[in-house]
Amino acid sequence: MTVFNLDAFNEHEQVVFCNDEKSGLKAIICIHSTALGPAVGGCRMWEYASDEEALIDALRLSRGMTYKNAMAGLPFGGGKGVILGDSKTMKTEQLFKAYGRFLNHLNGRYVTAEDVGITTADMAIVHTESDYVAGLEGKSGDPSPLTAYGVYKGIKAAVQHKFARDSLAGTTISVQGVGHVGYYLCRYLHEEGAKLIVSDINQASIDKVVEEFNAIAVGIDEIYDQDVDIYAPCALGATINDQTINRLQCSIVAGAANNQLAEDRHGTELMKKGILYAPDYVINAGGIINISFEENYSLENAMKKVDEIYDTLTEVFETSAREGNTTNQIADQLARERIDRATR
Ligand code: NAD
Repeated sequence: MTVFNLDAFNEHEQVVFCNDEKSGLKAIICIHSTALGPAVGGCRMWEYASDEEALIDALRLSRGMTYKNAMAGLPFGGGKGVILGDSKTMKTEQLFKAYGRFLNHLNGRYVTAEDVGITTADMAIVHTESDYVAGLEGKSGDPSPLTAYGVYKGIKAAVQHKFARDSLAGTTISVQGVGHVGYYLCRYLHEEGAKLIVSDINQASIDKVVEEFNAIAVGIDEIYDQDVDIYAPCALGATINDQTINRLQCSIVAGAANNQLAEDRHGTELMKKGILYAPDYVINAGGIINISFEENYSLENAMKKVDEIYDTLTEVFETSAREGNTTNQIADQLARERIDRATR
């Protein structure tokens, strides 16, 4: 297996393979860039089919964090941790403590936080060993509500750009995955009068949004065939792929999931189909923005900064329309410009 030549390796500064026999911890920490500051990005716990799949996921997520932090105007570089294993059965105190000790070896080059499969309670255990943890309860806490708020604002920017409408009332939106972020997003959308179509592999999560927000539940695979204005992927990445893209009947793709496009070319295909794509790492930056307020936390200040996602996305949409390049290419270009400017 090659590592340095992987497409996803893409200028990474450092990749650390962590192995702790006693606790059973197997983790990969990727630091893509520290050009703008310490690499900050969540830690995901997932049962990957192979080590290679875990590495590629971590590399792609880590590069995404560099771009996300740059586009959000934060003084952070990009990094990501993945812990290999089933988050429902393999979590132990020893495992998270071991992860914390590995963070200490990096001496602040990487600061971790929660992501899929990880809770603030897990991060509190990591914090008993390491200071390089953010998103702690009592400080900025669970980033999901602010991620959802940012996605909601981003959806409004997309609706304004695509339909010249300020309100989401009467808009039909499919939300794939109603977990931490998806649930709060559904609440914002419902409060503004949007009609919701939802899917999740977890029946209890579905029942909650059906009951609270009048959502209509559809099957895991049916979510792609819905006649909706907006498709909001809020589960896992790469759901815009060769199998799904021609099934989409929406005008906008805007959701919380990281790495929504299986490949960059799917951004071009969305554009050809007339579907406006809100680049994932721009629209889902609310959580990391919230984390940037970790010390002296103020929800009001964090929300004000998250509001900027609306303007950043509008700039991306308008530049894309003017230059004829895809929104994902424009976002990458703007992020690289910001990093270059800062490093110069
Ligand atoms: P979560 O694990 O709480 O929620 C994900 C939900 O998706 C779960 O309810 C799960 O059952 C469901 N799901 C899994 N596979 C599915 C499938 N095939 N079809 C439908 N539903 C499925 O995670 P989260 O924190 O809500 O994050 C959701 C997405 O947003 C992830 O891609 C994450 O990386 C991204 N994200 C989250 C944050 C944050 O602040 N939590 C920030 C930025 C990006």
